[in-house]
Amino acid sequence: MVKTAVVVKRIKFINTMDILIKNIRIIDPNQHIDKISDVYVSNSKISLIKKSINKKPPKTIDGRNCWLFPGLTDLHCHLREPGREDEETILSGSLSAAAGGFTRICCHPNTEPAIDNKISIRYIYDRASLCPIEVLPYGAITVGRKGISITQMGEMASAGAIGFSDDGNCVMNSLVFRRALEYSKIFDKVVVSHSEDMNLSKSGVMNEGFVSTKLGVQGIPAEAENIMLYRDIQLAKLTKAKLHLAHLSTEESVRLVREAKKTIKNISSEVTVHHLILTEEALTGYNPNAKVNPPLRKQSDIEALINGLKEKLIDVIVTDHAPHSSEEKDSGIENAPFGMIGFETALPLVFSLTRYGLKPVQLLEKLIVNPNKIIGYPIPEIKEETEANFVIYNPSKKWIYKKEDILSKSKNSPFIGWELKGKVLYTIYKGNIVYSAG
Ligand SMILES: [Zn+2]
Ligand SMILES: [Zn+2]
Repeated sequence: MVKTAVVVKRIKFINTMDILIKNIRIIDPNQHIDKISDVYVSNSKISLIKKSINKKPPKTIDGRNCWLFPGLTDLHCHLREPGREDEETILSGSLSAAAGGFTRICCHPNTEPAIDNKISIRYIYDRASLCPIEVLPYGAITVGRKGISITQMGEMASAGAIGFSDDGNCVMNSLVFRRALEYSKIFDKVVVSHSEDMNLSKSGVMNEGFVSTKLGVQGIPAEAENIMLYRDIQLAKLTKAKLHLAHLSTEESVRLVREAKKTIKNISSEVTVHHLILTEEALTGYNPNAKVNPPLRKQSDIEALINGLKEKLIDVIVTDHAPHSSEEKDSGIENAPFGMIGFETALPLVFSLTRYGLKPVQLLEKLIVNPNKIIGYPIPEIKEETEANFVIYNPSKKWIYKKEDILSKSKNSPFIGWELKGKVLYTIYKGNIVYSAG
């Protein structure tokens, strides 16, 4: 009962009221702004940005030593509604995302049933209307995500699908994928590829290598990703459709994207937070919460991915938030489903990458600017007379990530118990405080 009280206390929906934030460092990667200022929020908008504002609104926040930047966009997450509302609902997922500083999240269609028609797209928007932040759906590429026949993309695009994806599955048939890419051009929507040769990865649990041998479990070779990523790039060249490569995890993937980007402009790519932080060693001890697809790889892969971020080969950082029940995750490493939750730990983990020489503004560009370019949405900015969608972040606050504080319905994170540096203090969407660390 105490635990529930803690959670409820942390979710506060305060009706639009004027808010003054004093002496805060504004970081806006799109406008290239980095300055200390006061910010005044009124009528859901940022009404004033000035060195010193002398007003007395109902709420004043001391912003000293804190950062203010636009709300983050997550281009890749899984909410389990419809079908597995015990694991996550669109509402619970959006609350968890708000706690992580996200104000726009894009959910993949691998629900039960799959989001593969206009009615189900409308259903997601209907549920999303109850959420504190913006939730945008992808529609499936193929009916039931079975990889056989292409969906009614046009109808889904008209109903608001932001792009198309069979994520969780790869569209293994190259002709079907070619046709899907060609078809998507009519609606000018992005197609997301989960590049995995599913025959080669079959029954695999983790990265194939020394650790999988030591643990005695079936491995997934890097080639399962590399081979299919090569095919996907070739089909992007052939069709000139907008292709977004999901969750790169290998050194070779980065090399392939580097080569491709020299000649073609119609591909973009992403990396998950966990592929930048953890290696296959996280599976030692058979931790099911470190079982993800693609699997966690080696330190040399992490370094290649970091270089990919620096060289702008990798455009976006995503969570690939994938909630699973503890019953299923605890069913043994072989049977446990792939995936980990990720909204609430994303920012401190991403900012820890500054140890590789990446600047906070470079990292924010991949969480704010680039994801919106890919889906063709307006890029959030900190500017007078724009909607007040932003995060107030304390970069030096240390905290322990505890299971009982998790807002997601699922608790499958390998980061539980970690001391993290940097905390979202407030997330503000349309002038409302949708998350407060209290
Ligand atoms: Zn995937
Ligand atoms: Zn995914």
